[in-house]
Amino acid sequence: MDKVVSAKRSGTKASAAVRPVPPTREEAEEAVRTLIRWAGDNPDREGLRATPARVVRAYEEWFSGYKDDPREYLKRTFEETGGYDEVVVLRDIRFESYCEHHMAPIIGRVHIGYLPHNRVVGISKLARLVEVYARRLQIQEKMTAEIAACVDEVLKPHGVAVVAEATHQCMTTRGIHKTGVSMVTSRMLGVFRDHAETRHEFLSAIGMRGAIHVANGA
Ligand SMILES: [Zn+2]
Repeated sequence: MDKVVSAKRSGTKASAAVRPVPPTREEAEEAVRTLIRWAGDNPDREGLRATPARVVRAYEEWFSGYKDDPREYLKRTFEETGGYDEVVVLRDIRFESYCEHHMAPIIGRVHIGYLPHNRVVGISKLARLVEVYARRLQIQEKMTAEIAACVDEVLKPHGVAVVAEATHQCMTTRGIHKTGVSMVTSRMLGVFRDHAETRHEFLSAIGMRGAIHVANGA
């Protein structure tokens, strides 16, 4: 009975463009039971009996970013900037995400810089923006680019710089088991892309001067 319902619900025409109908909580819990069995354990033993419900609740928190529109966080801007026309940098924004290839944690930090054009945004909003993108299945490169594009689109600054550094548990706990390796990704837009001096100012502020090269950098 359940199977018929779920086949109807998800349909056969699902594509990347159309988000499929989400499963019910019961279906999600059943999937966790399947994975427990796949791992080699018995989902009916006492210690695991409540696990599917807990995992499904944890998923609601880890993947809460799908519910939010990141642009909303940047909409409330401040225009009285007293003529401030220097780079604004928010560094060391910790994030926890999940890689879309293995669903393993990606844990790291994001640094955001922008050169305002009349408008600035509260710093907590930039941190929330990172959280919304992080709390989805991600690859670090895409997350870095999405954060930069969102700041660029909503604040329309003279430029945006985003650098992310993170460790990927799909790399440290499985596969080649390389610990102590972190991945650094960056996206430079506007003045940060076109002017080496502005870019260096940002990279110095986050302690990474000389670490990032931009393809068409001056
Ligand atoms: Zn992975």
